[in-house]
Amino acid sequence: MSTEQKKLKISCTDTDCNNGLHCFRVKEDANNNFSPNRCRECGAAPIDWMRVHKRSETDIDFTIKMLHHEFIRDHFWKRRFNERSLKYALRKGRTKLEERTPAHLQATIGNAQPFHDGYQTPTEDHKIKNPFQYAQHATATCCRTCLGYWHGIPKGRELTQTEISYLANIVNRYLAEKLPGLPANKLTEKEIAEFDLSILQSND
Ligand SMILES: [Zn+2]
Ligand SMILES: [Zn+2]
Repeated sequence: MSTEQKKLKISCTDTDCNNGLHCFRVKEDANNNFSPNRCRECGAAPIDWMRVHKRSETDIDFTIKMLHHEFIRDHFWKRRFNERSLKYALRKGRTKLEERTPAHLQATIGNAQPFHDGYQTPTEDHKIKNPFQYAQHATATCCRTCLGYWHGIPKGRELTQTEISYLANIVNRYLAEKLPGLPANKLTEKEIAEFDLSILQSND
């Protein structure tokens, strides 16, 4: 199978342990607190969970580095966006796109019991509607389980404004890295039709 085909079949439990890409074992206690542990496949323990769970604004670089140790996160840090998402970004422009991030997180994972939790963020290109959805898998803000074990936020309660704003900063770091060619301001439909979409994304 080619790499492109494999990418279409991404699952949360995928691993490539020999290349440092794991999937972590997670326990949830009676109070909805998560205690993540070693890789369920190979037993590796590369994550400093205590440090990541502090959710420090000044330690976001470290958190991002840690996210790359999980197969599915790393995959979405590398994955190219579909056309629909690129056009979504152009219709907003960088400033408005980044401003929209907290509201998007609020709507998808902000409530105590989010609608269809665990299914609200599609992984298939033909279902993904906007850049936030790629970002959410990459930053573990896709559902309350991933949020719970990566960011140390229990299920079953609303997110605070401080948490939303911290998570939005990580998502916006992702968007800036992934879309270096995105203009600051929105484009018209005519401008979008003429825009060379290939210059929007980073090329790694
Ligand atoms: Zn592993
Ligand atoms: Zn998730």
